Amino acid sequence: MSERDTEMEETLSVVNPATGELITTVPAVSADGVAATAERAHQVFESGVWSRRAPRERAAVLLRLADLMERDAEDLARMDSEDAGKPITECRTGDVPGAVESIRWFAEAADKVFGRIAPTGHDSLGLVSREPVGVAAAILPWNYPLAMAAWKVGPALAAGNSLLLKPAEATPRSTLHLAALVAEAGLPDGVLTVLPGHGSVTGAALARNPLVRALSFTGSTSTGRRILTAAAETNFKRVSLEMGGKSPQILMPDALEYGEELIDNMTEAAFLTMGQNCTAGSRVLVHHSIAEEVLDRFTTAAKKLVIGDPADERTQMGPLISRAAFDRVAAAVDAARGAGAQIHTAGLPHGLPSRGAYYPPTVISRAPEGSDVLTQELFGPVVTVQTFTSEEEAVRMANTTEYGLAASVWTRDLDAALRLARGVQAGVVSVNAYSEGDITTPFGGWRQSGFGGAEKSTSAFEQWTSQKTLWIRTR
Ligand code: NAD
Repeated sequence: MSERDTEMEETLSVVNPATGELITTVPAVSADGVAATAERAHQVFESGVWSRRAPRERAAVLLRLADLMERDAEDLARMDSEDAGKPITECRTGDVPGAVESIRWFAEAADKVFGRIAPTGHDSLGLVSREPVGVAAAILPWNYPLAMAAWKVGPALAAGNSLLLKPAEATPRSTLHLAALVAEAGLPDGVLTVLPGHGSVTGAALARNPLVRALSFTGSTSTGRRILTAAAETNFKRVSLEMGGKSPQILMPDALEYGEELIDNMTEAAFLTMGQNCTAGSRVLVHHSIAEEVLDRFTTAAKKLVIGDPADERTQMGPLISRAAFDRVAAAVDAARGAGAQIHTAGLPHGLPSRGAYYPPTVISRAPEGSDVLTQELFGPVVTVQTFTSEEEAVRMANTTEYGLAASVWTRDLDAALRLARGVQAGVVSVNAYSEGDITTPFGGWRQSGFGGAEKSTSAFEQWTSQKTLWIRTR
């Protein structure tokens, strides 16, 4: 191992992707550190200080946590905006309030989700309960740092587990702040531990740790594959994977009756968080009869997006997460151009910092069938537009990729909407909206977008609890 590699393992450099400037360095947890923390989390779980605490009392601690997050909302929003390059308005109005709502919702659910009594004969009683798994772990992506943390922390702690939480390399600050707030809220020591670190070291050690009984992962499909392999090679910990997407937006012949609402939703679906969104509506599938007008209005809207400093509240698009991400997206668009696709973009405004990883919103039409821009998750502000002539063809095109995370369907024809919604193979299909639903609805992917248990709603408890049957013979 070179000196540089050793250095890399000891700290994380948190860099502002808008400027390329170092914000701070954060100690990275080593593999030994993970083992020691897991041991401690195990002891804390066994002690019952949290795991056997009355659910009502767990709820009270989590409700205090939600209040403290609200108190520090502006700091949390700034951390995610600076670390991930996300527009501050998105963090203030979306990510942080969403995270607070998740914690509050799962706090309130802690003592309201009941077990079941099985319909047995008179001589027996079958009670079915859900119990905490013990030590659980969560591995997070960088695109929604606090929001993804909250989706996992809420149900994991409400259920009584000890949780080890690993933020992404680029975005550890809001998660570390969350750990401080959790302590202030009165969570006993060692119940939640944040482990910043490198995926190949800290993440891999969590995936292989024999005391970790459940691991919830959100990130790329390739990392998900590694985590599943590590679990299979070690203790068969239960793995839940929330991974990538290539989600279609299907526009039927009457879709333009929704006018600007349609165009606004399409633009948000495609370019929110600079397209670095697992549910990004990155493939527009439009009926040929309206294709020309849609392409024109959509590209016009994309070109009007305000690109600039994420700290400016007028900014709608900041930089990509890194120069490496920029290079990957640029290479995919260049390859599509080379293969004869048409690229529609207004380019970047003048005056952006030269070291910022800014990439302009880009719409691609006439991409050759099977090309990477149509099938691979690009994770950038790049959207393809394809046409179809029949409903059957739209469904076939929607289902051509290996992903199945989300989709949207636009039409006033209820029968067509329902046929399309049922035909598309994805975890969330929204009709006449771009939405993942709210905290009350489950969220999770099909196919290579994920499996193993949903996020949000009471379904989330399935990830963080084991089912137990208690069988009692009555005499
Ligand atoms: P990534 O897979 O590179 O990293 C995700 C996390 O995994 C990070 O914390 C990283 O440190 C860790 N990691 C990396 N290698 C590891 C290993 N060998 N073992 C254990 N952990 C390891 O993903 P990313 O670039 O941070 O995030 C982008 C991806 O996340 C996209 O594919 C996106 O679609 C997906 N995503 C999915 C959802 C969803 O809910 N489906 C939500 C947000 C993001």
